[in-house]
Amino acid sequence: MPTRLHPRSSLRHDRGVPFSCEVCGRSAFPDLIPPVGEVLRCPHCADERPFVKPPLLVVTGTAGIGKSTLCARLAGTIRGAVLLDADILAEDLVSVVLPNQDYPAFWRSMMRLGHELAQNHVAVVYFSVMLPGQVLANSDVLNYFDSAHFLCLTCPPDIQRARLARKHPAAAHMRRLREGTFFEAWVDFNSALVATANEIPTATVVDASRTIDEVEQDVSHWINTQLHQRGALRTDSTA
Ligand SMILES: [Zn+2]
Repeated sequence: MPTRLHPRSSLRHDRGVPFSCEVCGRSAFPDLIPPVGEVLRCPHCADERPFVKPPLLVVTGTAGIGKSTLCARLAGTIRGAVLLDADILAEDLVSVVLPNQDYPAFWRSMMRLGHELAQNHVAVVYFSVMLPGQVLANSDVLNYFDSAHFLCLTCPPDIQRARLARKHPAAAHMRRLREGTFFEAWVDFNSALVATANEIPTATVVDASRTIDEVEQDVSHWINTQLHQRGALRTDSTA
């Protein structure tokens, strides 16, 4: 069946462009037209237009925990969701490598991208090494989303070290990434993530030391629950 667009249907027609008001033509650049409750409101003429406001979902965890594998396995399997490995964008968009640690700015970009994607009636699910605070620090951009939820994949230190050793056999031979320093940094990150998750009501901890099939099932269930059982996405299918 041919795809048919409805450019004059209500939401699409009122959409405008990210930085400018369709009514008065003025720009909010470098900011997007800001959200006020359930609408985007022009800061100049106060014109309001509706927008799609899904939850923002992030699956996080240390290096080697299986995020990229899970993202690849689940991509295309969840109705209404676009799954993206955010780590592939990190180096190009904003440097998140030492000594630059401007992670909140990186997540600000990711959130704006998520908002733009959402206008296609999909919700973005990012898979990335991150701490929830890096998203939550961008409180103004959070208003483009119904809520922000974090699934934190964690595992005990001994299992984590064994997985890192399998994944990074060369680490022990590289001066800059000596095994002890490299591995322990990620063990520390895992501990910090668990501590943070316990303080954030919208964070869920999942034990990733189980088989990839079991973890995949949990991640899939979590995404589906956030998007569909809460009625966050308008969809035509009942599949
Ligand atoms: Zn305006």
